[in-house]
Amino acid sequence: MAKAAILHRYGEPLAVEDVEVAGPKRGEVKVKLKAAGLCHSDWHVIQGQLPLPLPIVLGHEGAGIVEEVGEGVTSVQVGDHVVLNWVPSCGRCRWCRTGRPDLCEEAARLTATGTLLDGTTRFWWKGKTVYQFLTAGAFSEYTVVPEQAAIPIRRDVPFEVAALVGCSVITGVGAAIHTAQVRPGSTVAVVGAGGVGFNIIQGAALAGAKQVIAVDVVDEKLAATKTFGATHTVNAREEDAVSAVLDLTDGLGVDYAFEAIGRPETMADAYNMARKGGMTVIVGIAAPHETVGINAFSLPSQAKTLTGSWLGQGNPPVDYPKLLDLYAAGKLKLEPLISAVYSLEQINDGFAALKSGQNIRGIIRFAE
Ligand SMILES: [Zn+2]
Ligand SMILES: [Zn+2]
Repeated sequence: MAKAAILHRYGEPLAVEDVEVAGPKRGEVKVKLKAAGLCHSDWHVIQGQLPLPLPIVLGHEGAGIVEEVGEGVTSVQVGDHVVLNWVPSCGRCRWCRTGRPDLCEEAARLTATGTLLDGTTRFWWKGKTVYQFLTAGAFSEYTVVPEQAAIPIRRDVPFEVAALVGCSVITGVGAAIHTAQVRPGSTVAVVGAGGVGFNIIQGAALAGAKQVIAVDVVDEKLAATKTFGATHTVNAREEDAVSAVLDLTDGLGVDYAFEAIGRPETMADAYNMARKGGMTVIVGIAAPHETVGINAFSLPSQAKTLTGSWLGQGNPPVDYPKLLDLYAAGKLKLEPLISAVYSLEQINDGFAALKSGQNIRGIIRFAE
């Protein structure tokens, strides 16, 4: 038995209840969760914007300790500290074989089914199957995931910090470093100062950007972006964000513009903030039916690159340990990203704070 936060119906609060957790099958591991972050993607599911089978255990930004391993598991052992990887790539599909595990076909399939590889899950509630979001199901004291979804990490970092690396840090830092490949001396704008936006900012600063403009609507968060490497801030509630960014760049626009909210309007804003020949990277997740309005003439005449970034175009087995090494070396700030810590029972308070935009990141700390 384990306590888990279950979504039974869209739009309703999560219910913290006892679930049965089966043991790991071949190639799977059972993880005792120590910490799990509250991400906008979980919130999208709660609101019904990313339709998935219900009931489901949400949570995908998690860290914990391996409790049990199934037959044939070789990459991780009982007692290892691990960060969950919500894109457990198969290593065999055309994307994996061509160096893009972030786009793995098999992992994308599991995103839609809410199951593990064999089409079943390891959670049961009152005799009913409970699905697991992104194979992780991290809002549970215990979960069972594919071996490739549990990435071993160094043991000297706090679990709260390690959990962040599993989604917001790899997504944000990766978007700056892998997708945009921000160059030293370049100019950057980041629309949206949440868990991901802060990490794009510090990723861009780490890559040597000379100007990093943070755009948000909450003054306290904008002030905090300065300690992560933002050089300028724009409150989009007080001024037109696109004009403000153009003013700060002599009318040119930035070399790289990032959107980390997931709204069509702010995606178009980010595109309009990029200079001619510059790059716009969409990181925020919009609902599947939404479209973005972009001036059609500008597409050829301004020759901008418009792209997206999923999981920061990263490779978790390589990137999670590397990001935690950067943290340990003092080059990535992770503790200050944690605005509030909740117990599993308080999870709905955490989502209320996420909805109001007051937290950079809220995190669940599991009881011992
Ligand atoms: Zn996430
Ligand atoms: Zn694959």
